[in-house]
Amino acid sequence: MKIKESVAKILDELPEGVELVAAAKERTPEEVFKAVQEGVEIVGENYVQEAEKAYEVVGNKVKWHFIGRLQKNKVKKAVRIFDVIETVDSVEIAREIDKRCQQSGKVMPILVEINSGEEEQKSGVLPEDAEQLIREISGLKNIKVMGLMTMGPRFGNPENSRPYFIKTREIFDIIRRLSLLNVEMKYLSMGMTNSYKVAIEEGANIVRIGTKLFGERNYK
Ligand SMILES: *Cc1c(COP(=O)(O)O)cnc(C)c1O
Repeated sequence: MKIKESVAKILDELPEGVELVAAAKERTPEEVFKAVQEGVEIVGENYVQEAEKAYEVVGNKVKWHFIGRLQKNKVKKAVRIFDVIETVDSVEIAREIDKRCQQSGKVMPILVEINSGEEEQKSGVLPEDAEQLIREISGLKNIKVMGLMTMGPRFGNPENSRPYFIKTREIFDIIRRLSLLNVEMKYLSMGMTNSYKVAIEEGANIVRIGTKLFGERNYK
């Protein structure tokens, strides 16, 4: 399927209130531009360097979400490009974002990434540590916590992802009920090409889709 058709199909399919993030890793700036022409309004990037290249072509008529692993030495650049950072999972990285935002007079909306599969090598904060982390981040003036994000383990069968989405949704509800100052639990970012339908059933209002929009990635 061409990008034009796949973008139209997915946008048509998503229920009202669910936002599409086009997961653009390993795509050329031209492919990203094409998707934007066809109606994509949010681009998700895993790498700051790739984002810079795509940004040069696409510009700021779309929103840019950072969805990769953020290294401290990339935060300064990331703060310049991105409208939302979806993958905050430590106080250290939050403090760095806060510091860089303060320098440029910006408040960064962020999502806290939950390691819902509790896999050691994965990024994200463990479910039982999420509340404490969010309480600490909520004290930073140049960051606003706007929700949660999770990947979950990668499965062929989307049904196997459901428990991880349910778990993340439960944390989302618990934190929301706390009504913490400077925390607005608005966005729940869950679900990718193979799992977004299940994620939406479990309450996702942001889905991050790559393969189904752009085709298979070419692993080098
Ligand atoms: C690659 C990626 C996606 C999209 O994955 P697809 O299976 O290609 O849809 C979503 N979220 C994150 C964080 C990713 O790295």
